[in-house]
Amino acid sequence: MPTYARADLAFEKGEGPYLYAQGGRRFLDFGSGIAVNTLGHSHPHLVAKLTEQVGKLWHTSNLYRIPGQEKLAERLVANTFADTVFFCNSGAEANEAGIKMLRRYQHVSGNPEKNRILVATNAFHGRTLGTLTAGYSDKYREGFGPMPEGFDRVAYGNLNELRNAITPNTGGILLEPIQGEGGICRPPEGYLEGVRKAADEFGMLVMFDEVQTGVGRTGKLYAYEWSDMTPDIISSAKGLGGGFPVGALLATEKAAAALPAGMHGTTFGGNPLAMAAANAVLDEVLKPGFMDHVLDMSQLIRDGLDAIARKHPGFIEEIRGMGLLLGMKTVPTNVDVVAKLRELNLLTVPAGDNVVRILPPLNITKSHVDEALAAIEAAAAALAK
Ligand SMILES: *Cc1c(COP(=O)(O)O)cnc(C)c1O
Repeated sequence: MPTYARADLAFEKGEGPYLYAQGGRRFLDFGSGIAVNTLGHSHPHLVAKLTEQVGKLWHTSNLYRIPGQEKLAERLVANTFADTVFFCNSGAEANEAGIKMLRRYQHVSGNPEKNRILVATNAFHGRTLGTLTAGYSDKYREGFGPMPEGFDRVAYGNLNELRNAITPNTGGILLEPIQGEGGICRPPEGYLEGVRKAADEFGMLVMFDEVQTGVGRTGKLYAYEWSDMTPDIISSAKGLGGGFPVGALLATEKAAAALPAGMHGTTFGGNPLAMAAANAVLDEVLKPGFMDHVLDMSQLIRDGLDAIARKHPGFIEEIRGMGLLLGMKTVPTNVDVVAKLRELNLLTVPAGDNVVRILPPLNITKSHVDEALAAIEAAAAALAK
C-alpha cells in the first residue's frame, strides 16, 4: 500500500549500531528504528535468547499462564512504581488499554461522570482512533471521523491551564513525560509534580505515555524517575523488545482493578517470543552501570553538538532531550538535514518543530559517537545558512 513515504534503501544485515544495505554500503544507525533497537542489531544475548525460545514454543494465547510474562512483569514491578503489568503488541495498543483503564477506574469508583481525559498540545499517542483523538495532530485525523469523544486539550507544560481545564467530568490526565514526535520537548521544572498534585486533589489518575521515553532511553528505566512523583499508569513499547514487537501497560493495583478478568484482552499479547526478547533486553539494561553509560554517551554527543553549533553558526538552533533521547532543532529544514546525514551514512529521524532526533542504541561506544559527530559536522559545513 502507499501508506509510507519510504527512503529508497533496504537493509539486509545489522550488527551493533551498523546497518548494511544491499550492495554492502554501511550506515551508522542513530535512529534505532525510531527508538526501538535498544541494544543495536543482532546483539548476541538477544539472538541467543530469542533463538532458544524459537525452538521451544511460540504462542499459546492468554488462556493459559505464560511464565515469560510472569518473569518480565515481576522485573518491571521490582524496578518501577507499578504493582502489575498487562502485555500487548504496540504502543498504540498499550495506550488504548490505558485510556480504557483511566475511564473504567472512575466508573468502578462510583464516578461514572468523570469520563473525560486531559491531553496535551503536540502530543503523539499512536494511530488508532482513540490514540489519534488523544494526540494533537489534526492532519493525522483528517477524514477519519467521527472520532471518539472525551478528550480535552491543554498546552503542554502549562500547569495553570491544566488546573483551569479540570471540570467535574475530568477523570484522568494522559501525557508524555518528554514529548518525542512533538520535537523532544521537556516540560518545565516542577510540571509533572504539579500534575500529580492536581490529580490527587481532584480524584484523577495520571497516565504517562512512555512508549518512546522508556526502557533506559533517557538514562532511567522510565523517564518519570527523573521527577519527584509517580504516575498511576504508564505505557511502554518501542524499546521494550529491542526490535521484537511488544507493548506493556504498567499500573498500580488500584488502577488495574478497573480491568478485572474478561474486561480487556489481546490474542498475541505477551507471547513467549516477545517475552524472551524483552527479558533479554532487561538482562542488559538492568546491569549495574548501564544507565551511567547512557548518560556518559549523552554528554559526549551534547558536547560534540555544542562544539559544532559554535563552529558552524546557522545549523543547530537548539539541543534538546535527555539521555539518548536527543534532538537538535536545526536552521535548515530537518528533512534536508536527515537526508544529508543519510548521504553521509548516518541514520537519524525527523520530529516535529524542525527537530532531528538522535536515538542511537543505548550500548554505543565513544568511537560510534565520534563517527556520528563527524557526519553531523560535515552536514553542518554543507548546509549551514
Ligand atoms: C511511537 C509512539 C506511539 C505509538 O506506538 P506504536 O507502536 O507505533 O503504536 C505512542 N506514543 C508515543 C509517545 C510514541 O513515541
